[in-house]
Amino acid sequence: MLVSLQEMLADARKHNYCIASINTPNQISLRAILAAAEKTNMPITINHAQTEENVVPIEIAVPLMLEYGKASKAAVSVHVDHGFEFNHCMKAVRLGCTSIMYDCSRFPMEKNIEEVKRFIDIVHPLGIGVEAELGDMPNNMPSEIHGQETSDLSDLSVYFTKPDEAEEFCERTGVDVLTISFGSVHGMYKDEPNLNVDLVKEIDGRAHGVALGMHGGSGTPFGQVRKAITAGIRKINYFTAIDTAPTPALAKTIMESKNPVNFSILANQAMEIIYEKTVEVLNVFKNGANR
Ligand SMILES: [Zn+2]
Repeated sequence: MLVSLQEMLADARKHNYCIASINTPNQISLRAILAAAEKTNMPITINHAQTEENVVPIEIAVPLMLEYGKASKAAVSVHVDHGFEFNHCMKAVRLGCTSIMYDCSRFPMEKNIEEVKRFIDIVHPLGIGVEAELGDMPNNMPSEIHGQETSDLSDLSVYFTKPDEAEEFCERTGVDVLTISFGSVHGMYKDEPNLNVDLVKEIDGRAHGVALGMHGGSGTPFGQVRKAITAGIRKINYFTAIDTAPTPALAKTIMESKNPVNFSILANQAMEIIYEKTVEVLNVFKNGANR
């Protein structure tokens, strides 16, 4: 069933757990991830990222995501991840997305606030949840997209969100989720991360009730993920580790087969592995909540 992001976040705060936010760029991922959400009884946002337009355009992806989301027993929000352009986000509104990340974090703070506020004024009356980002999220993904180039990862603290700015951002925008930078990285880590959980606690105390988001969940040791959730993180984007999980097994199937392997066989094998990996992650995000 479709459930608003705002409703999900309120329950996550009450019971101290975290909403998973996972990209579903194909039907295999979509089916596997929703099955995992049903199995664990965890609410979830299924995402179309603007950076995946070359994989599947939003006009193709979102109607399918809405159909599956409505039919699912899990609480689902059909979400746009990293919408960089206002027009793209408005297209998502017209397609029926129930929550949208309008990412203006590349702009100076004042313009970020103005843009996000302008968008919220339009979509909040429609019940659509809005996520924004403040501070720089470093990337460790090979990408040619502006703002997504591989970052210098030698000192992650230079990217951290500043609590004063986070407080002002939340107060002036009324955003539903503010994604902050506190030591996580888009893509996979080079070394073991060291999340600044004290920074999460401090910002959570000053966020005027706004839920805090974390991107780059993949590769974070589960112990650190649990600490971040307990400190106040209510939405975690977790994709790379799930999307790469089937690859070694699929390669093995192909290498060991004496005959050409049907793609449908590989797809089913991938779906099973994505399902199992997602169940594992969602159980961590449950953080001991009785669900
Ligand atoms: Zn992100």
